[in-house]
Amino acid sequence: MATVAEHEFVIERGEDVWVYDSGGRRYLDGTAGLWYANAGHGRAEIADAAAAQLRKLAGYSIFGDFSNEPARALAERIAGLAPVPDAKVFLTTGGGEAIDSAVKIARRYHLAQGEPERVHVISRAQAYHGTNGIGTGVAGIEANRAGFGEMLPAASRVQYDSVEALREEILRVGPERVAAFLFEPVIGAGGVLPPPEGYIEGVVEVCHEFGVLAIADAVICGFGRLGSWFGVERWGVEPDLITFAKGVTSGYLPLGGVVVHGRVAEPFFSRPGNVFRHGPTYSGHPACCAAGLANIDVLERDGLVGRGRELEGELANVLRPLAAHPLVAEVRAGVGLLGAVELTAETRDRLPSALADLQLLARRQGVLVRPLGAALAVSPPLTVQAEQLRQIGEAFAEGLDELKLKVES
Ligand code: PLP
Repeated sequence: MATVAEHEFVIERGEDVWVYDSGGRRYLDGTAGLWYANAGHGRAEIADAAAAQLRKLAGYSIFGDFSNEPARALAERIAGLAPVPDAKVFLTTGGGEAIDSAVKIARRYHLAQGEPERVHVISRAQAYHGTNGIGTGVAGIEANRAGFGEMLPAASRVQYDSVEALREEILRVGPERVAAFLFEPVIGAGGVLPPPEGYIEGVVEVCHEFGVLAIADAVICGFGRLGSWFGVERWGVEPDLITFAKGVTSGYLPLGGVVVHGRVAEPFFSRPGNVFRHGPTYSGHPACCAAGLANIDVLERDGLVGRGRELEGELANVLRPLAAHPLVAEVRAGVGLLGAVELTAETRDRLPSALADLQLLARRQGVLVRPLGAALAVSPPLTVQAEQLRQIGEAFAEGLDELKLKVES
């Protein structure tokens, strides 16, 4: 529910890695909004492309045989970038809708293959897959699932770092009942948890072995965050479906979608009667797609897609020394332009506001970061420079020292 808090922190404008509040103060955007401003803020060419499309044709839904040029062009462009053969692309208005769409595609695919019992979805502890019905039902962050009743009865979760746990769960449920396994390449909102070595390759192999569709959720990890278009390329795997959102437009307008492997899409095209009865009103919205196309142009032209990988070592170098601070339990960084600084349980017990306090202390030093469970997250725009990463590290270091005084007082 939208409420207006007295202390709301109003952001008014943005330019590259900087955002400005309503008092005109400038901040380094340490989280790229909510993990999406990959191309940076204030890119006139993305805004202009969306505005030109709004003037030409603001909306025209792509149901049935209807289509529009930006939707066609974007779907084709994304299919061409995807690390799966003969990809088809289903467009949505965001990541949560992409997750619901992917799981529904998976179930309908199995139905078309004569396996109607395959409806169960396995996800990972600590996973975040959005706020829609299915995304809530498969949430691995327990607090996000609690209090809504059972949103998706045929669902279960496994330990987030064990290939063997997935295999055991598939065997427990019965492979003939499992539709899909959902995984974020690096768990984002659940605390920035990079996969252990061999994990991504291992789980995709287990899925293929049992005919379970592997759905990579690249909503955070895509469009350069891990140094490639969909994040999964660095492990050389071929998922059956890939969900994306956020960085596809760098947040200039809402858009998401699902990349579908040609083999999984085939029954929907080749078998009469196997219609995918699922069409959100704003799927393929022309202005959002125009923003997506312009954003992809910028990411390509400015060489930003590789930045997630080029900068991951620098970000890790900046954050890792913080692990020596007495209030810090763990620093996680090293895979992509993603990091987290977790406070010790003792600190959070002694000062329940510790995370919010540290966020404010960093903000006072002109750096925006966000709380994530027991940690604060870092995921700046891909345009960030090394010295700006160091500025984030300094804001943490000084903030932690001030926080220590407060914890001890
Ligand atoms: N999947 C992942 C991995 C996410 O991080 C998010 C949002 O943060 C979503 C799905 C949901 O995306 P949206 O908020 O656009 O619905």
